[in-house]
Amino acid sequence: MAENRHVRLLIIGSGPTGYTAAIYGARAMLEPVLIQGIQPGGQLTITTDVENWPGEKNIQGPDLMLRMEEHARAAGAEVLTDHVAQIDTSRKPIRVRSDAGGSFTCDALILATGAQARWLGLPSEDKYKGFGVSACATCDGFFFRGHDIAVVGGGNTAVEEALFLTRFANSVTLIHRRDSLRAEKILQRRLFENTGIEPLWNHTVTEILGTDDPKSVTGVRVRDVRTEDETVLQRTGLFVAIGHIPASELVAGQVETRSGGYVVTESGSTKTSVPGVFAAGDLVDSVYRQAVTSAGMGCMAALDAEKYLAELNA
Ligand code: NAP
Repeated sequence: MAENRHVRLLIIGSGPTGYTAAIYGARAMLEPVLIQGIQPGGQLTITTDVENWPGEKNIQGPDLMLRMEEHARAAGAEVLTDHVAQIDTSRKPIRVRSDAGGSFTCDALILATGAQARWLGLPSEDKYKGFGVSACATCDGFFFRGHDIAVVGGGNTAVEEALFLTRFANSVTLIHRRDSLRAEKILQRRLFENTGIEPLWNHTVTEILGTDDPKSVTGVRVRDVRTEDETVLQRTGLFVAIGHIPASELVAGQVETRSGGYVVTESGSTKTSVPGVFAAGDLVDSVYRQAVTSAGMGCMAALDAEKYLAELNA
């Protein structure tokens, strides 16, 4: 629905950062409006078990996000299912235009747009995306029942995806470019105890092989980083789990960013280089990137915005 309106606090993004900012903003009587973006609930909606959210020994990612959304609405935030197309921070009030044609002006803006899956960048990866190449085991694992598949990456996501995929696949090979994982130790232990997963150390993926008709994957060409030797693994699926890219394109060239596209914030705060624009969560954080740290930063952003707005009106 098209809207043209002014709000005091606008929040963009609906992960733990955005919803926490909305809860705090609403409780500060700022009547925040939150625009959810293309993937309401963010990255946690494509994970399964979350076992490190305090107070929940085990909760499904999508359930946790629905509960956060309900909480934000109950606190008094307005949550809009829309996607932001353009932001103009060059003048006050800040202007935001959405895909649905709505335009907003706001006194304070919280950027909580998070991050998206990183891809290997191979032409053959593009070719077979959706036809055997995926970045979401939760979404696509079911299609690989009885297949021999591979996962690439060595972080928490790769290990969790490999473990999850053993529910469906005949075998899972974890391809990693080094000889040790960066995933949490508890996940590593689960991986090494799982006989359905075979790690392939010191290898990178150089090409995904397949057929055109039907379009499907038949193999993965890998290179040994120590010898440069290449071999082909007969696999019918590849899950890419090599990290994330911050979703900062909407403010590129407007707020200061650093290598990798992460938005720069003042030390110990969520203030960006533009007064009135705050950033938090995976958009700024290349180190911790946890649901709980994102939520903490969402809280900080709301408190920073509240202080900014109070000083504006003083
Ligand atoms: P990550 O921790 O950044 O790990 C990315 C992995 O991909 C690394 O092992 C990296 O190798 C590898 N890699 C990167 N670029 C590559 C390339 N071009 N080719 C081959 N390998 C490549 O990313 P993540 O696993 O997505 O996790 C992101 C954050 O979310 C982390 O902070 C993680 O703790 C968090 N997370 C938490 C949970 C949980 O708590 N349950 C679940 C998922 C994610 P190197 O190791 O050699 O750099």
